[in-house]
Amino acid sequence: MRKVTILGATGSIGQNTIDLIRRDAGAYDVVALTGGANIARLAADARALGADIAVTAHEDRLDDLRDALAGSGVEAAAGAKAIREAAARPADWVMSAIVGAAGLAPGLAALEQGATLALANKETLVCAGALVLDTARRHGARLLPVDSEHSAVFQALVGEDMDSVERIIITASGGAFRDWPLERLRHATVAEASAHPNWDMGQRITIDSASMFNKALELIETREYFGIDPDRIEVLVHPESLVHALVGFRDGALMAHVGAPDMRHAIGYALHWPERRDLPVARLDLAQVGQLNFRAPDDARYPALRLARQVLARGGLMGAAFNAAKERALDHFIAGRIGFLDMAEVVEEVLARMEARSGLIDAAMTLDNVLETDHLARAGADDVVAERA
Ligand code: NDP
Ligand code: MG
Repeated sequence: MRKVTILGATGSIGQNTIDLIRRDAGAYDVVALTGGANIARLAADARALGADIAVTAHEDRLDDLRDALAGSGVEAAAGAKAIREAAARPADWVMSAIVGAAGLAPGLAALEQGATLALANKETLVCAGALVLDTARRHGARLLPVDSEHSAVFQALVGEDMDSVERIIITASGGAFRDWPLERLRHATVAEASAHPNWDMGQRITIDSASMFNKALELIETREYFGIDPDRIEVLVHPESLVHALVGFRDGALMAHVGAPDMRHAIGYALHWPERRDLPVARLDLAQVGQLNFRAPDDARYPALRLARQVLARGGLMGAAFNAAKERALDHFIAGRIGFLDMAEVVEEVLARMEARSGLIDAAMTLDNVLETDHLARAGADDVVAERA
């Protein structure tokens, strides 16, 4: 039986992962499930899957989790440290599906114990790409992409050599507002930004899709995972979300990955890799689909992409600053303190201030320095928002 752990088990990716594991429950020995506020879901899944331990991120919810697990034989724990410890328990395969930079330290703990890390948490690579890849290398651990675009690229590269790759094209649906006039975007509400046209995902990534910050993070993720020059990564708006990514080779061939927008494909690919197994995802009827549309992203509409390119050009710890500033700007948008278009302005200002702090961005990429940069950028975003009020 394969020992598996799911970090962020109560979220959208976590639940899709559990769905796949349940279908073949006899093949898996579930070590740990971690969640946050959704104690009922966490406890129910830990019981049903017979996990060794369930961990909530919230220390003040430990008693609730204990109560919910009473008599089940599943151990209960709480807090960020307990999540890292759960990730460090020996497992063959660990799903990294916590949202935000909170996923970084547990992911590193999983790599340090040699597990294959299925990486949905793109923030891990954005904040600390070099550190994460180096940790995997040193511990003989494998990192498999779960983000749909990166899984698509990974699949298009099977049997290929990176030397043959000319460019990587990741697609973007354009999110909830792709057809809105620009001037209307300023007044977009949280509820409007939380409705994705094609994908059913957690709220934060859904809003990031509308602002294109999700694609901005993915640009950096592509650079880190595949080690390709940023100039050779393109973003293409594709409203249907059926072509997830394309790889362009030196002979002019473009290999596209086409499939229904269902994360169980990318999760299942990472779960069964290097094999392919039957997965419960819809089969596309292209005659029914009829047409696929593509267009270049509009720079005025999506400043997040320009900012990501700046971050890539700058390097160092700027990815950690960018992600943290984005996370806090998103918190402030969700809380109603800033408007939809203000998010990119706040992030841009934070990056400028972080750059001005001498030596900060060029410090060595250690976990402590990444977390310190993350902390400073969050505080910086709070300052910028307070100054604008
Ligand atoms: P969700 O918001 O649905 O789930 C997030 C999970 O993380 C939940 O289990 C949540 O617990 C837990 N969590 C939240 N905050 C913390 C914290 N501070 N510490 C520990 N755990 C925490 O997110 P998604 O499933 O949508 O996304 C997860 C990751 O996967 C993100 O990095 C996202 O960018 C990436 N991703 C998601 C895709 C998707 O289709 N959803 C596609 C590609 C990538 P609880 O809910 O119990 O509070
Ligand atoms: Mg994606």
